[in-house]
Amino acid sequence: MKLLRPSFYLLLLTILFASCKAKKPGIVTAVDNKKVYKSQIDSFLDIAKQMQPVVLADSLGAPIPSDFVGTVNFNLRKPNYVILHHTAQDSLAQTIRTFSLVRTQVSAHYVVGRDGKVVHMLNDYLRSWHAGVSKWGNVTDMNSCSIGIEIDNNGIEPFSDAQMKSLLTLLSYLKNTYNIPAANFIGHSDIAPGRKTDPSARFPWKTLADRGFGYWSDDILELAPENFDYATALRLMGYDTHNLSAAIKAFKLHFIQTDVSPQLSQLDLNVLYNVYKKY
Ligand SMILES: [Zn+2]
Repeated sequence: MKLLRPSFYLLLLTILFASCKAKKPGIVTAVDNKKVYKSQIDSFLDIAKQMQPVVLADSLGAPIPSDFVGTVNFNLRKPNYVILHHTAQDSLAQTIRTFSLVRTQVSAHYVVGRDGKVVHMLNDYLRSWHAGVSKWGNVTDMNSCSIGIEIDNNGIEPFSDAQMKSLLTLLSYLKNTYNIPAANFIGHSDIAPGRKTDPSARFPWKTLADRGFGYWSDDILELAPENFDYATALRLMGYDTHNLSAAIKAFKLHFIQTDVSPQLSQLDLNVLYNVYKKY
């Protein structure tokens, strides 16, 4: 065997070192993303293909007989809610990067850029990690039944026209495709009172409601009854009223917007009385 010159080994080592150095841990590329995405899909497919019966035991630990017989009538579960967020970040690229890093443990199905560009990051039938600890009505796993949309906005700026135009088109597509009720277009702040405030008080919920995505109060308001049980009204809408002040603030962030204090004025009560009856 012919021995190679030491300078050749040095070159080889340099190349090896450079190629190792080029890929710092935590840096993800589009190719990496696609690879991971595909392998995760494959692993879920393996789970769906399992035909093992459920294993049950009675209170004494004796096994309950079970069997697996596949039905022929089924399809995929579909989303029934749309949860709107704002990214609190400064660019679409930054948000995409956040959702491409394993350590962040957050994601969304869609990201809508300030320029109106829509980035689809997860198939609608899969569960993204956008809601976190949340509750709406008796649903405590919002991620399992919803589509998460992140609107690129830093939380203090207005939402651009191009962005709203794309968002409304996307909402229309989702509403029609999955037959999502108008009431089920809500914000992260609605399902996580006291923890989340996105999308901000600047978010045009009225514009959405006018198109059938969520509700808004009527122009002419009836006076709320004297002993109006506002806590029950909030709960019937879906708010988690465990912390009532937080629920009131969340309601006001969505339906009042000009004031988000934890008190309800007569006008706020009238709005609540008007809106809750729509749910
Ligand atoms: Zn959010």
